[in-house]
Amino acid sequence: MEKKKITIALDGYSSTGKSTMAKALAKKIGYAYIDTGAMYRTVTLYCLDNNLIDGDTVNEAALEAALPEIHITFKANDEGRSETYLNGVNVEQEIRSMRVSSKVSIIAALGFVRRDMVRQQQAMGRDKGIVMDGRDIGTVVFPDAEMKVFVTADPMVRAQRRFDELRGKGDTTTTLEEVLANVTERDRIDTTRAESPLRQADDALVLDNSHMTIAEQDKWLMDHFNRLTQ
Ligand code: C5P
Repeated sequence: MEKKKITIALDGYSSTGKSTMAKALAKKIGYAYIDTGAMYRTVTLYCLDNNLIDGDTVNEAALEAALPEIHITFKANDEGRSETYLNGVNVEQEIRSMRVSSKVSIIAALGFVRRDMVRQQQAMGRDKGIVMDGRDIGTVVFPDAEMKVFVTADPMVRAQRRFDELRGKGDTTTTLEEVLANVTERDRIDTTRAESPLRQADDALVLDNSHMTIAEQDKWLMDHFNRLTQ
């Protein structure tokens, strides 16, 4: 008999490797994977490209009016990896740039943006069998998720990981200090915002992966999943 599918919520701080582990878990257990950070990043890219953000000031009325025209979709590439599309255009690379990272938490703090994203995320997970990673998945999007994990790691370890990733993608100008400042600033905005601040759900299990290898954290997650679904 096929195992009953559950909902898996992975929340936590920036650059903890949540997406990498969520993706690996989803693949292993045959679940769908949704990167909700990519959705907030895509809205941010739209704002930047359409001059809806000036410094830290957002043209909220214009963004709210434009939201119905921002269509975010995910499609697997030739290697089976999910990539993000904005109105049919592949934006996977662009949404990971520092240009977007430096503004995304401002956009993600807007209530009307969050309500729209949460509505779409709840629709995507309606049939369970989904791994979703973000900041508010276990608290707001799926408070009844059967498996909730809260991922954390030392800020310097996280900055180094994001820095290595940017270098790997050909960004030769951003410094480690800039990445650390961005990671710390996003944590500050994400945890202190009025709308759905980042916090650990009461029933979430904490995973601190500061000193864990990818193989170790994958095993930790798999063991937890097996315990819950046996
Ligand atoms: O996960 P990632 O670092 O790509 O997310 C980018 C930003 O999007 C976060 O710093 C946070 O401000 C926002 N976010 C959010 N809620 C989510 C996912 C991401 O507020 N569920």
